[in-house]
Amino acid sequence: MNGDCLFCLISQRQAPAEVVFEDDKVMAFKDINPKAPVHLLIIPKKHISSLNDISEKDKELLGHLILIATHLAQEKNLKETGYRLVINTGPHSGQQIFHLHLHLLAGRHFSWPPG
Ligand code: AMP
Ligand code: ZN
Repeated sequence: MNGDCLFCLISQRQAPAEVVFEDDKVMAFKDINPKAPVHLLIIPKKHISSLNDISEKDKELLGHLILIATHLAQEKNLKETGYRLVINTGPHSGQQIFHLHLHLLAGRHFSWPPG
């Protein structure tokens, strides 16, 4: 827990968020500034700044994060139409919050390659 980190505070329910899923390891909540009709953020409760800071011991946690994202996609009936999972890492990606998070985006067409 990093007291200066917004997503750590959200994961400890010390800052507000529209939480849609929680277990002992991860939390999912609505993005405050959605870029698509469905825009959820899935975070580990453990503070990891970005993919640059993961290690071997985080393998299971990262797999769990993706699994939860697919469960949420299924729950929202997105499997047929599809969805996009994004992890921004570092300045060129536009990462703004330095607590690892998976974006689950859906509900419209997304261009490829991304802008
Ligand atoms: P990134 O650019 O990958 O770091 O994404 C950060 C995301 O966090 C952006 O899509 C923001 O809209 C979102 N965000 C920032 N503050 C909050 C908040 N308090 N609650 C929910 N989402 C937030
Ligand atoms: Zn954090």
